[in-house]
Amino acid sequence: MSMKAIFLDRDGVINELVYYPEQGIIDSPFTVEQFRLLLGVGEAIKKLREMGYKVILASNQPGIAKGSLCEETFEKIRQKMKEKLAKEGAFLDGEYYCFHHPEAKIGKLKANCECRKPEPGLLLQAAKEMDIDLSQSWMIGDGLTDVNAGKGAGARTILLGRMKCELCHLMDKEGTSPDFVVPNLLEAAKIISSQQSAVLEDKDEDRKI
Ligand SMILES: [Zn+2]
Repeated sequence: MSMKAIFLDRDGVINELVYYPEQGIIDSPFTVEQFRLLLGVGEAIKKLREMGYKVILASNQPGIAKGSLCEETFEKIRQKMKEKLAKEGAFLDGEYYCFHHPEAKIGKLKANCECRKPEPGLLLQAAKEMDIDLSQSWMIGDGLTDVNAGKGAGARTILLGRMKCELCHLMDKEGTSPDFVVPNLLEAAKIISSQQSAVLEDKDEDRKI
């Protein structure tokens, strides 16, 4: 039987984004020290797995392609993430990354690929390899690229952010919007839990008829 899954973006969902004052940009952590779990993430992932979901990372990580960090540092950051989650009793069932970038400095990573979100490739690949029913699954992220990737794969979507967000005018422009907007992953887990009980109640109603 196919499994249902929660696909998670990484930066801004699992860990804090990092502000780089010299370039004036907010980006991924590029050192192990910069990687910090956001509050409540371990608890949220634990809850989601207890609800019977596979929790799978689906993340664009063009940092190596752009020369912002090396593969070894990326791997160390990945280990730190897993250790920090494990301390909170949380585990990931899968990790899918797109390392490509159309402007990559490293030749082998320069590509207009089908796995870089907003394309749904990472989710489709995970679904195939892990036997996931995408119609029973959710994509949670802090960007419209996540919402579009989730929708493109046929999953429901939750945007982490504020209701009166900077992204809202973009949503109108692109004609795309998530199913829900909540401030953090723990709130997203609560939404998914409440949606699930709503489905169960519907089924109970069907039985009565
Ligand atoms: Zn890719």
